[in-house]
Amino acid sequence: MSTSKGTFRFEPNPSPCDPSERYTLLENPGFGRVFTDHMATIRYSEALGWNDAKIGAREAFRLEPSTLVFHYAQEIFEGMKAYRLPDGSAALFRPDANARRFQHSAARLAMPLLPEELFIEAVRQLVQIESAWIPSTEGSALYLRPFMIATEAVLGVKPSSDYLFCVVATPVGAYFKGGSAAVKLWTSERYSRAAPGGTGDAKCGGNYAASLAAQAEAIRHGCDQVVFLDAVERRWVEELGGMNVFFVFEDGSLQTPPLTGTILAGITRASLITLARDMGMTVREEPYAIDQWEADARSGRLVEAFACGTAAVVSAIGHVKNSESAFTVGDGNVGPVTARLKAALLGIQTGRASDAHGWVHRLP
Ligand SMILES: *Cc1c(COP(=O)(O)O)cnc(C)c1O
Repeated sequence: MSTSKGTFRFEPNPSPCDPSERYTLLENPGFGRVFTDHMATIRYSEALGWNDAKIGAREAFRLEPSTLVFHYAQEIFEGMKAYRLPDGSAALFRPDANARRFQHSAARLAMPLLPEELFIEAVRQLVQIESAWIPSTEGSALYLRPFMIATEAVLGVKPSSDYLFCVVATPVGAYFKGGSAAVKLWTSERYSRAAPGGTGDAKCGGNYAASLAAQAEAIRHGCDQVVFLDAVERRWVEELGGMNVFFVFEDGSLQTPPLTGTILAGITRASLITLARDMGMTVREEPYAIDQWEADARSGRLVEAFACGTAAVVSAIGHVKNSESAFTVGDGNVGPVTARLKAALLGIQTGRASDAHGWVHRLP
């Protein structure tokens, strides 16, 4: 059976997950382990442009071993969430910002730009069809993973002529095991994440592949995540592998590294800057050096630090370590400014607080 949902053809999964099994899965979904019954796909070819938009059963791709994405990593992705609102309906948070960033990433990886409306429509249609998969427990959501891969089967180093855009959905609980405890960060002297002129401000899988050795180093040293320093001076704090960072000072002001091309422009980052300013706080987008961070944490000038991104929303940073030294931020726990900003953002995302900036995109 096939029906039309606007631009999208709908081919229901003939054997969807049994409702009782779904309830069990939704009780403790973890992160990115459980996937819903359907996926959205849109194909691109040089001849046809964007075509064959469909919501169908989630299934494996059949791709030639020579497919470009396997060899030269021409791949980009997004991460966003659908939240359950108090009235039982669902909402996306700033999906237009994800759509625009997806275009920015595509341009950097020499991929075609998916029109904003088509990106949002793919996500909307999928979430509406999978609405029974949106968990409603505190801290949970339906995480959406739009991505695009180069699908031409050829080994030449060149932009692919064909692409596949796809969105899959996965119900998620808290991102970090241990819930809202403060995280311990590792500063690597050996690895950097992004160089000037590189792909640091594109959301591409290659950046993540390059961060894994550093992440393994962090785990070996008893830390949770890496905080990367700039690739040139190895001094300026940039971001985590997948989250931006903020610093909170004794005088109540906030600081976050500026978007100079090596840092991913987080939508959570942008939203928190706006919310903090709404609350009357001063927010500076200025570079911050790792030695200054340590000195300020030791003197008490710096009172809190946190990381932020869609997956974990806001995570306090409790400790920072490298091969020579280690220091604690504040008392090593979640501070009041971090907690307040997190609650303010989550309140808007989950429809419990008023949405002054029009960020919440309600689904019918
Ligand atoms: C996705 C991502 C972020 C966070 O972006 P959000 O839009 O807030 O989810 C930060 N840094 C990197 C490297 C990322 O890939």
